[in-house]
Amino acid sequence: MNNPVLNHSCEQIQPPLLTMDKALNFLLDAAKTPTQTCNTLLNDSLDRVLAQNICSTINVPGFDNSAMDGYAIHLKNEQINRPGGFTFKITDRISAGSIGNTLESGCAARIFTGAPIPKGANTVVMQEECEVSDDGNSVEIWRPLSLNENIRPMGNDIKSGAIILEKGLKLKPQDIALAASVGINTLEVFKKIKVGVFFTGDELVSPTLALKPGQIYNSNSYALVAMLKHLNCDIVNLNNVEDTLDATVSALESLQYQCDLIITTGGVSVGEEDHVKPALEKLGKLSLWRIKMKPGKPLAFGQIGKSAFIGLPGNPVSALVTFFLFARPFIKKMQGINNYKNQTTQVQCNFDWRAPKLRREFVRVKLDHSTAPASANLYPKQGSDVLSSLVWAHGLVEIPEDCSFSQGALLNYYSLTDPTL
Ligand code: AMP
Ligand code: MG
Repeated sequence: MNNPVLNHSCEQIQPPLLTMDKALNFLLDAAKTPTQTCNTLLNDSLDRVLAQNICSTINVPGFDNSAMDGYAIHLKNEQINRPGGFTFKITDRISAGSIGNTLESGCAARIFTGAPIPKGANTVVMQEECEVSDDGNSVEIWRPLSLNENIRPMGNDIKSGAIILEKGLKLKPQDIALAASVGINTLEVFKKIKVGVFFTGDELVSPTLALKPGQIYNSNSYALVAMLKHLNCDIVNLNNVEDTLDATVSALESLQYQCDLIITTGGVSVGEEDHVKPALEKLGKLSLWRIKMKPGKPLAFGQIGKSAFIGLPGNPVSALVTFFLFARPFIKKMQGINNYKNQTTQVQCNFDWRAPKLRREFVRVKLDHSTAPASANLYPKQGSDVLSSLVWAHGLVEIPEDCSFSQGALLNYYSLTDPTL
């Protein structure tokens, strides 16, 4: 592993901060794409990732059919596109799922949505435009009729032989429906990845307990588990781990052979109470980065046993934001998802940024959609401990390092609320 900033310790001079782009590229290059696959029933395939292209062996629809409840008509040549007032004898009734007889010239068949167009019919008129005679034997239409009205042709949706879903797609309800529509019952998907998590900090307690002086609740555990569930990972959660080297080493040991990835929060700085770095160095390989970003300067990355490792900072906003910016695309690549990178859109900032900052900032904003593009309002408290800023926010605006701007500037925006994320 070619680490840009390796092997520094607190005794040494701090290395220069790494740019976020470099760190992210390095991390994503190191993410292994999956090889193991399994078959899953359609109803169990939501959020799984396709391991092969899906090709249709049939046309959908498989036959020309009616788009309306109405009358299928065999127009004579002299009736096409002429002023209306033609009468057609009703000779058949075709409901969805049944096959009609050949329709003679100048005749009509009562037809329902989805029913096959009978041989001979060359147009369909919706029932609201048809006047049926009192005896029910004929239908009169008062407007000009052209060929092929309201006929859904064979293969209109899918042509036989077409690739309908591509390898690397994370399956949404509509994708699963499309597979069903071509008669596929099982899909080959990549095996789920297993992520082990634990949380460093002697101050942390579970929200089931009363706080003692100096203690705080472990909110990162719930954030991480929820984010991993969103990503459809299997999770092994060791919860709080004591701030000692031994406890950190044994937590990592217990996870390293059963997990594809281990994620921790806290303890990734270089203070005496930060044991993640020495523990990882003992068991595997570690890169600890100081990244030119805020929130979330320290981020650890490495490998132990068969597992990759990502150590997120402890502050709750930093943990969530770095998970979103680094761990999420990393996991998506490991899952075999094609579009694993975070997407951005442009929004206009409803605030000034007077003093250029050394680090790239990801500020919590709420969007106002009454403007185009949408405008971003800043949460007043942007500290990395202010978890309520993330609950208030719709997303993050990315403010480049060394820049200043006035209200109205267009910047990248990452949504945190898109349900597909
Ligand atoms: P650390 O990165 O361990 O130095 O922690 C930085 C800050 O984040 C400290 O104020 C910790 O108390 C806080 N913190 C660390 N882990 C958690 C956690 N799991 N939940 C909530 N706050 C945490
Ligand atoms: Mg700590």
